[in-house]
Amino acid sequence: ESRQAARPEPGKMLPRVKNVIAVSSGKGGVGKSTVAANLAVALVKLGYKVGLLDADIFGPSVPKMFQVEDVRPYAERIDGRDLIIPIEKYGLKLLSIGFFVNPEQATLWRGGMASNALKQLVGDAAWGDLDYFILDTPPGTSDIHLTLLQTLAITGAVIVSTPQQVALADARKGVDMYTNDKVNVPILGLVENMAWFTPAELPENKYYIFGKDGCKQLAEELKVPLLGQIPIVQSICESGDKGTPVALDSDTVTGRAFLQLAAAVV
Ligand code: ADP
Repeated sequence: ESRQAARPEPGKMLPRVKNVIAVSSGKGGVGKSTVAANLAVALVKLGYKVGLLDADIFGPSVPKMFQVEDVRPYAERIDGRDLIIPIEKYGLKLLSIGFFVNPEQATLWRGGMASNALKQLVGDAAWGDLDYFILDTPPGTSDIHLTLLQTLAITGAVIVSTPQQVALADARKGVDMYTNDKVNVPILGLVENMAWFTPAELPENKYYIFGKDGCKQLAEELKVPLLGQIPIVQSICESGDKGTPVALDSDTVTGRAFLQLAAAVV
């Protein structure tokens, strides 16, 4: 009984959205937002209609990663309701909690405020028809996850981790948050970010700075797929800062890696 009560009915909140994918991580700084942004861009490249909601109230990074920091979404009256119009960039629709809050004050938000704001960004925005609605969730396990789980019928979760032990331990908690029998969200798989480093002058060498195959082992243990391994590449960081996600260019190694990841998710 309680198991059913905790999960919204599929399609109730956003009837025109086919799949809702939560991108999560146990720890901050492992590249969750980078993966969420590039996954969203890669899904557009594959021909899907995509929305991206940056729900990371502690460090919204979508505005910077898409170079829309100064943009302020407006509302429009549609079918008798005032709806927030998502920003369109690189063929996808996006909204960020960062558009509505001064970044310096974000961490001061009380749970209820942040939850209400997020509910509005989900339910009172003109997302329209989407094949994939990607949620960039806050790191760890929090009230915000609970809000998202209670507001949306999440199709599946993608867990991002680095191969290092502390990150893996937290990734396990992240998996647990979705798979416990109260919420029962399927884990689509793990993404190993910062899997290795290859210096430009030694292109044959791979340095496993954070350990080797940590996510592969965790995926095997938890019996979930390993969706992709993304190396440490300077351009991933630089293009994130510039507002041009690497997945925009599918001719590069990193662009292809994210296309492969998107293909593994669909
Ligand atoms: P999180 O969302 O987990 O806090 P971010 O996606 O914001 O992490 O990434 C943290 C920092 O690491 C950012 O500066 C980002 O550009 C950089 N970064 C993420 N993944 C990679 C990678 N594979 N190679 C190089 N830099 C990366």
